[in-house]
Amino acid sequence: RCSLKSAKELILDNSVDASLDLVSRNDVQTCTYWRAPIIWEGMFDPEIYDETHKKKGSSVALVVFAVGRYLEAYLDTFLNSSERYFMLDLPVTYYVFTDRPAKVPPLKLPPHRSMKVMRVEKHARWQDVSMMRMKTISDAIKTDIKHRCTYVFCFDVDQEFTGRFGSEALGDSVALLHTYYFDLPKMLYTYDHNPESKAYMETGDLYYHAAVFGGTWESVKALVDACHQGIMEDKRNRVEALWHDESHLNKYLWIHKPSRVLSPEYCWDPLSGKNGVVRVQRLVWAPKQYKKLRAP
Ligand code: UDP
Ligand code: MN
Repeated sequence: RCSLKSAKELILDNSVDASLDLVSRNDVQTCTYWRAPIIWEGMFDPEIYDETHKKKGSSVALVVFAVGRYLEAYLDTFLNSSERYFMLDLPVTYYVFTDRPAKVPPLKLPPHRSMKVMRVEKHARWQDVSMMRMKTISDAIKTDIKHRCTYVFCFDVDQEFTGRFGSEALGDSVALLHTYYFDLPKMLYTYDHNPESKAYMETGDLYYHAAVFGGTWESVKALVDACHQGIMEDKRNRVEALWHDESHLNKYLWIHKPSRVLSPEYCWDPLSGKNGVVRVQRLVWAPKQYKKLRAP
């Protein structure tokens, strides 16, 4: 656990946070051993964060993929809920990647928010749809996002915003604690344990959920490039990491520690039965429909 003092010292490392106070909580872990804050409800003043980021001119790219049947199943709910809760005060550009741009539901947006729909190929295997996001995100940052946005956040589409997901989540390199592992001992984390894979790791720090990651465009670019390289090298070696892109993400974030960690409030499974510690559910898992959605 982090004392209030060390949480404040840490914040001085980060330019945006320099003027901000984070308050500690004693029922949850609020900072990592390398002194990145873990953001929980009650630790921050939303108004101060929003003001600071507005003054600084922060802008955010929200990247989401809806390929194949995931489009009809989830995209509308995801986007509409995002318009109610995601970085409301800041300029946001949605980057929606799909194999059927014409089917993307129309979204009414205020002037400071916009949407770009981009076509991607539909890979035959769902694992490849998921993994190849890394390459697509890298290309989009290089050709477009870096000229328009300071921060990038990448989301799975099978989720719904149900509470504030605001500028307190912005940082240089941002990772999310997985609902099912944040309170479990390390030995149960499902890292990739196959030495043949580039995602191989014996042990790590935390178990991060790949459904949400972000940071400055520079740091997200470095992360997706490294993950894509690992994925492609695994393909050449005919191995696949246990949890695909998530395994590579965990490997990268073990070597390159995130500067900010989001508590599972920021991607909660309401069916987990562990709601006690979570005061606000900001983003929740939508029901999985693997049989229907992943069938070839
Ligand atoms: N995805 C998609 N079409 C597919 C498979 C995956 O659009 O056929 C995208 C979608 O954004 C999805 C993400 O890749 O949320 C990750 O896949 P999924 O959510 O099924 O993985 P899980 O969260 O169940 O591990
Ligand atoms: Mn998902």
